[in-house]
Amino acid sequence: MTDALVQVRGIRKDFPVKGGILQRVVGQVRAVAGVDLDIRRGETLGLVGESGCGKTTLGRMLVRLLEPTEGSIVFDSTDVTHLKGKQLNDFRRDAQIIFQDPYSSLDPRTPIGNSIGEGLKIHGVEKDERQERVGDILELVGLRRSHANRYPHEFSGGQRQRVGIARALVLRPRFIVADEPVSALDVSVQAQVLNLLKELQSELDLTLVFVAHNLAVVEHISDRVAVMYLGRVVEITDRTTLYERPLHPYTEALFSAIPVPDPARRKERQILEGEIPSPLGPPAGCHFHPRCPIAEPGLCDVDVPRLLPPPDGGSHLAACHLRTGTAAVR
Ligand code: SF4
Repeated sequence: MTDALVQVRGIRKDFPVKGGILQRVVGQVRAVAGVDLDIRRGETLGLVGESGCGKTTLGRMLVRLLEPTEGSIVFDSTDVTHLKGKQLNDFRRDAQIIFQDPYSSLDPRTPIGNSIGEGLKIHGVEKDERQERVGDILELVGLRRSHANRYPHEFSGGQRQRVGIARALVLRPRFIVADEPVSALDVSVQAQVLNLLKELQSELDLTLVFVAHNLAVVEHISDRVAVMYLGRVVEITDRTTLYERPLHPYTEALFSAIPVPDPARRKERQILEGEIPSPLGPPAGCHFHPRCPIAEPGLCDVDVPRLLPPPDGGSHLAACHLRTGTAAVR
């Protein structure tokens, strides 16, 4: 048995772009452009990148809220790429998502106990057992059983995210995608929610994918981190290696944007020039080359770099011609 709970191979997602008076399809946006990923049992994998890099789309495909255009997703040895109907519903017992904005994902006219218990109802759990399990899960996330009768507007932002976590956990899933779960919260509340997720992950033996645009947030919670740029994973390794010895110039730029209070850890700030290019017409070769401070003309703007280890080997992978690709061993 492999130690990967989720295996992703060559996954791609295109969205149609419509235009003109008749709103005809005039093009395709490639949100995820061929990702291979193994998510190990019991780990927390951070998925990081700027807005528009495809991390949320990838996260949603992992729990099959979106169907991939191409490629495969295998969950615990079962291919779930194109599941539909009852089989997809059964998969949802195992794979759940926590949304960024818990307020917009909760019905304002429904007591939160009903929202949390909705998944149980769909899976045929009787009312008494539902109430019991909703009460248990509310306590598990640090709320009170009596909170089940309250409406979303009666909770603070942090409490609402606890409700969102309770809703994701009530079916006892094995796999959770947390999509920017703290970015809508005050900084003072972020640490509480991150600590709660960390505790629950180890207590319930969850496999967790934590999507975020902020490397500082991901450091706190992840075992491994994958960095995405314009639909591709450009670097992946364990947290310590990534934070101490990033390989990809894009990861370096993301790090240098984080304020570091410790002067010993402070590095020269590297300003990332330009905007992330449009996925409608991504640059040829390495997608990062128009912004990369060390890009080599004739190589980086022509050939797509593959995700490889550096010349001395190891499990630290990066997609960069100069750091890990063929040019790195010249
Ligand atoms: Fe920069 Fe070239 Fe490496 Fe891309 S392949 S990150 S452009 S050096």
